[in-house]
Amino acid sequence: MNMLGSKINYIAEFSDRELEIEFFNQYIQKAMKYIRPIMLCLGIFNMLFVIPDYFFIGNLSAFIRAAAGRAILFMLALALYLGIKRTDNYRRFAVWITLGEIAVVILFFYVLNCYENPDYLIQAFGVMIILMVFCMVPNRWIYSMVMAVIASAGFLILSKLLIEGIEAREFWAGAVYIWIVIILSAILSFRSNYIERIWYINNKELTKLSITDPLSGVFNRVKFNEELKKWMEYAKRYSTDFSVAIIDFDDFKKINDNYGHLAGDRVIVEFVSLVNKNIRKSDIFARWGGEEFILLLPNTNIKQAVELAERIRRNIEKHEFYIAGKLTCSIGVAQMSPGDDETTLLKKVDNVLYAAKKAGKNKVISF
Ligand code: GH3
Ligand code: MG
Ligand code: MG
Repeated sequence: MNMLGSKINYIAEFSDRELEIEFFNQYIQKAMKYIRPIMLCLGIFNMLFVIPDYFFIGNLSAFIRAAAGRAILFMLALALYLGIKRTDNYRRFAVWITLGEIAVVILFFYVLNCYENPDYLIQAFGVMIILMVFCMVPNRWIYSMVMAVIASAGFLILSKLLIEGIEAREFWAGAVYIWIVIILSAILSFRSNYIERIWYINNKELTKLSITDPLSGVFNRVKFNEELKKWMEYAKRYSTDFSVAIIDFDDFKKINDNYGHLAGDRVIVEFVSLVNKNIRKSDIFARWGGEEFILLLPNTNIKQAVELAERIRRNIEKHEFYIAGKLTCSIGVAQMSPGDDETTLLKKVDNVLYAAKKAGKNKVISF
């Protein structure tokens, strides 16, 4: 798939669902550091509002109900604070965040209802703050927007019903300001969602380029070295088998000399697709340099590695390459022994490859 061709749709998400989930998961993972403390702060901040509640709610039992609502919200924030760490499904995380936002809105309405004579404009400022917080908290953009619209529409309707004597001028001014805040926050958060995604695919594409050989599309030497180190450590640690094979074309110079470099390049591309059909997903296939390729075979002993190498050798021998026709290759195979490091292991395979060439080419020789 061409990454840069991935479209971002009108709800600020990748149209490609798999890519979107992958992005969202890593995004939340990164954001986790600050989401959790923020969650806790919002929970505590909400508890502090018990103080104005105490002064503005005349009726004691209504005050207790409001305080109980705040306590529930605090518990919810605490639950998120403790629970998010363990969430591995971040789409579900978006749903939880949204439920938390719904709880905030309900509480806000509830407290508004408890106040004896709330000031419309002061409450409208409160709504604006809530809207901005909704746009800042990491969530699916569309969920934040729906919540913002519900919260503001609900507030306008409720204040019309609950608050007596609001001047029409005042009411509409509040409404217009709230809607301006929604629109500006929507644009800003759309932009940041968009930019985060562009940045993500660019980064992904760059990473891919930095580990890929441009002609053959397999891993390059940089990635190969990294994987070799990783798998050798793994094999030592868990005492599993690990084998390596180097494949070198026989008389490749002649192909270039007889048919030109482009035909030689074409052979390399065809060869890669032949090998890819024969290996497992977990095998690492890389270009070692020139027309030499290398296979890292985790959980594979020498016998299995030789079988695989033989299969590849036979497939190449059988294949009719474009322009170049029939070709052969030589393969050296070795299994890692406990005392091996990267250099000694590669030396072993290189030696057997050389032996295969000396023995007349078109052969698999193992250490
Ligand atoms: P041998 O059987 O001993 O391996 O002989 P060889 O001709 O294959 O010799 P060697 O492996 O030493 O040479 C490899 C040649 O492959 C040299 C180089 O011109 C050619 N080559 C390396 N990389 C590429 C490439 O990307 N494209 C093309 N067209 N040729 C390449
Ligand atoms: Mg060669
Ligand atoms: Mg060579």
